[in-house]
Amino acid sequence: MRECFELRGADAGGRIGELTVPRAGVTVETPALLPVINPNLDTIRPRRLADEFGAEILITNSYIIHGDDVLRERARTDGLHDMLDFSGAIMTDSGSFQLSEYGEIDVTTEEILAFQREIGSDIATPVDIPTPPDVSRERAEADLETTQERLEIAEAADTGEMLVSAPVQGSTDPDLRERAGRHAAGTDLDVFPVGAVVPLMNDYRYDDMIDVVAAAKRGLGADAPVHLFGAGHPMMFALAVAMGCDLFDSAAYAIYARDDRYLTVRGTRALGDLEYLPCSCAVCTEHSPDDLRALPADDRESELAAHNLHVTFAEIRRIKQAIRAGDLLELVEQRARAHPTMLDGYRALLDHAAQLERSDPVSKGSFFYTSHESARRPEVVRHQQRLERLSVPDSLLLTVDRSAPDDGFDEVWRVQPPFGPFPRALSKSYPLTAEVPARTDRAALEAAADGVARLVDANPNASVSLAHRGWPASVLETVPESVELLDLRSTDDR
Ligand SMILES: [Zn+2]
Repeated sequence: MRECFELRGADAGGRIGELTVPRAGVTVETPALLPVINPNLDTIRPRRLADEFGAEILITNSYIIHGDDVLRERARTDGLHDMLDFSGAIMTDSGSFQLSEYGEIDVTTEEILAFQREIGSDIATPVDIPTPPDVSRERAEADLETTQERLEIAEAADTGEMLVSAPVQGSTDPDLRERAGRHAAGTDLDVFPVGAVVPLMNDYRYDDMIDVVAAAKRGLGADAPVHLFGAGHPMMFALAVAMGCDLFDSAAYAIYARDDRYLTVRGTRALGDLEYLPCSCAVCTEHSPDDLRALPADDRESELAAHNLHVTFAEIRRIKQAIRAGDLLELVEQRARAHPTMLDGYRALLDHAAQLERSDPVSKGSFFYTSHESARRPEVVRHQQRLERLSVPDSLLLTVDRSAPDDGFDEVWRVQPPFGPFPRALSKSYPLTAEVPARTDRAALEAAADGVARLVDANPNASVSLAHRGWPASVLETVPESVELLDLRSTDDR
């Protein structure tokens, strides 16, 4: 276990954690949002972030401070906490973003780490190389090698109590991301940003973003606090948390406000297009869209930024509550309906169901089947893995309901789409207590048929019959030939 990070609860790949930040003397509960503070622009003052929004941690850019004579001297003299007037934890970025935007910067990892320590940063960042998506393997490998050298420099540096982050790069190559994660986790550095995902999100490539995070997580392991660097839109937080991200930073709240854009968990709206404000924060209850549009530009920007932050923090709280209640994936399913590319992201998440299954609690409140994607959830994967270990009698009837004639069988088991067969003794246990729609969909039937096949394949000597109710022939095709089939519809009329 990493000393600075403790897990307190889990659901799918999501978790509630405690990040101890010794230099700030605070413990930050994760998932957490780090509002980005541009030291040159005061959209919302840091003290207000703490008092009104409950921000426990923020992030600012040490490279910008370092490059500005006035800010640099103030930070050196007063320290970052007094300069920003914020008593929570302060993370600092290093200039890597500027490096990716402008091609070069004028500090080394040694210099910027020493500067971050000097000005009182609580979590510092070395100068890693943010490799864009889709570059050649050669370039991604070469960049990664440089990033890894920088992490080793950071590991060797005298950083005192300050935590230091170890960015994970590797472009869109899952293999390199996994290798980078393993290397980063092998250092004694503390927080693990998955870097260079902003271009993916700008292009709505949420599926590729999930694949990148999944790969990084395989290398990092379960105990590493993971920061999705540059991801600030609340629409995708639930998805990213479900894949195992713990920290998010938002510049979006301020940047969007400057452009008259209004954040919602279902996407971004232009203020000019809104006839109603679908939010109950103070800004939205005290103003109409016309009121906001009539404000002077600076005031409008500040009101919109406040709304954007309210929505963003509220989503973080909603996600934490969902993890506690065990219904994070139900929340992800709702968010996935906001945009087709979010649905791609959710489907990509389910490609990693076996990986998520390892951290998913064995028992939770209740499984709600709310989309055909639910048939691929980690709980279904786990039940089907368990099927291979259950002991099966010589002759077994599997039935979708109680009306099947059960004479002559050693045992009768129920078949519940999407899980498949299970013995009576498990009927009261999670996830078989699932709430499923009466109008079963094809994905659930297919998953149940897969479950039957797994049970039969694991017990080739058992004689198994399946009583179904009008399952399509193409679904029944996956059931092994040795299984005797009985369609209950044909017996209903007798
Ligand atoms: Zn609002």
